[in-house]
Amino acid sequence: MRQKIVAGNWKMHKNAEETEDLLNDLIDKLPTDKEARIIVAPTFVNLSSAVSHLEFTNIDVAAQNVHQAESGAFTGEISADMLKSIGVNTVIIGHSERRAYFNESDALLASKTDTALKHDMTVIFCFGEELKDRQSGNHFNIVENQLRDGLFHLEEKSWEQIVLAYEPVWAIGTGETASPEQAQEMHEFIRETVRKQFGSDVAEEVSILYGGSVKPENAKEIFGKPDVDGGLIGGAALKAVDFAAIVEAI
Ligand code: PGA
Repeated sequence: MRQKIVAGNWKMHKNAEETEDLLNDLIDKLPTDKEARIIVAPTFVNLSSAVSHLEFTNIDVAAQNVHQAESGAFTGEISADMLKSIGVNTVIIGHSERRAYFNESDALLASKTDTALKHDMTVIFCFGEELKDRQSGNHFNIVENQLRDGLFHLEEKSWEQIVLAYEPVWAIGTGETASPEQAQEMHEFIRETVRKQFGSDVAEEVSILYGGSVKPENAKEIFGKPDVDGGLIGGAALKAVDFAAIVEAI
């Protein structure tokens, strides 16, 4: 059975002290009896302390980005080896903010994914259409292209390390959520697209998360859809009560 996952993307929020506070609060409030994998992604500078803080808990730590090169003259960047060396085994790749503000192309994201996989990391691969694409009815094409250009070069075996996160850009941080039906429709399409390329075993095993204004109030309905295997949570991951309520809904 495929894994249920709830991941919190903290983006550029929380300094060292605030990170510790939120982690303590999460340890306090998160349910411990869930089958779901729970992940938090603080900023790079707080990853190490998060890993030690969460050592004896059921909460995993992910990075929000990684560089595609092994090492070298790339001022300001972080490699997969560095992440692994501090105990971070999961990385978010292709978030729409990385694509939009840092010009990360599908080809670059494919290369980042290869590097992360080479280091045996789990990749949470994000993609999703913009508002104009949905309005023009082009959203399925866009999503299919992002999947193809980012992930279709992978070997079947690599899919054990891949988690998909469908995040319609128009729903991120806007308060506007895709309806549970819209999410299900796209998730079903994504699974079919994976099935056509890699077969049923891969398609049935891969977890597909929904992201975009998931809140305690709408989580249960969204997670209740058959092809939605969890969520990638932004704003609501910054408050332990909200994140705990969302995990409770899985
Ligand atoms: P949001 O962000 O939950 O604040 O919409 C989701 C994300 O960017 O991953």
